[in-house]
Amino acid sequence: MSPSLEIAVRVGGSAVVFSVLALWEWFAPRRRLAVGRRPRWPGNLGILAIDIVAVRLLVPTAAVGVALIAATRGWGLFNLLGLPAWGGFVIGVIALDLVIYSQHYVFHHVPLLWRLHRMHHADLDIDVTTGVRFHPLEILLSLAIKIAAVAALGVPAVAVLVFEVLLNATSMFNHSNVALPPRLDAIARWLVVTPQMHQVHHSIVRAETDSNFGFNLPWWDRLFGTYRAHPAAGEQGMTIGLPVFRDRAELRIVRLLTQPFRDDARGER
Ligand SMILES: [Zn+2]
Ligand SMILES: [Zn+2]
Repeated sequence: MSPSLEIAVRVGGSAVVFSVLALWEWFAPRRRLAVGRRPRWPGNLGILAIDIVAVRLLVPTAAVGVALIAATRGWGLFNLLGLPAWGGFVIGVIALDLVIYSQHYVFHHVPLLWRLHRMHHADLDIDVTTGVRFHPLEILLSLAIKIAAVAALGVPAVAVLVFEVLLNATSMFNHSNVALPPRLDAIARWLVVTPQMHQVHHSIVRAETDSNFGFNLPWWDRLFGTYRAHPAAGEQGMTIGLPVFRDRAELRIVRLLTQPFRDDARGER
């Protein structure tokens, strides 16, 4: 795939998914927003712009580039085992999802890493823009982890691209303020992380924050015992966010960028 086609797939796909979800949550919101869009969207979308620039400037080859190098040099477990292309593709996508799940679990349990990740949780509502609200340092660190996994496993480049496009789309989907009908949600939860399932992860209650770590596939949470079906206070009654950073001024972009380094949230694990 040519680089320009790859960028077109990424940007075009992302813009379409974003627009559809933004319209859906506008016309049929699942929850009434506590703070709303206007105070939050400039900060959340500003962070997205910084993340895009940081990744393009600092890691221009990114994970797909490393996958192409790994394939030509025969690096990684899949190449050593001589897996057929379709096997490398399927196992590669699933393995990368397990890597992301594990990384998310570790970011919640190692205090220094939680400082980076808590900015994602400090959003006072969740909607489609929360799905792209990750601190640039967390984005770069998770890209480094993904690149290491791609090289170690020898994941095919097309699997990396499909995984990244999927992860971007599912992250926007499972943060969006939309509701699947309860019966469809119950079935979908066996295939993909749904908005109602990920909402539990954004609860202010710590035991609930530390559940439902999956982004794409919901199986890891069920397998490793971190699955929680519903928040104790109910889908409508639960409070979104963290006990810290609840001031609306914390939604501004400069505050978002400085949150990991600030000690005014020292008590926060
Ligand atoms: Zn989290
Ligand atoms: Zn989230």
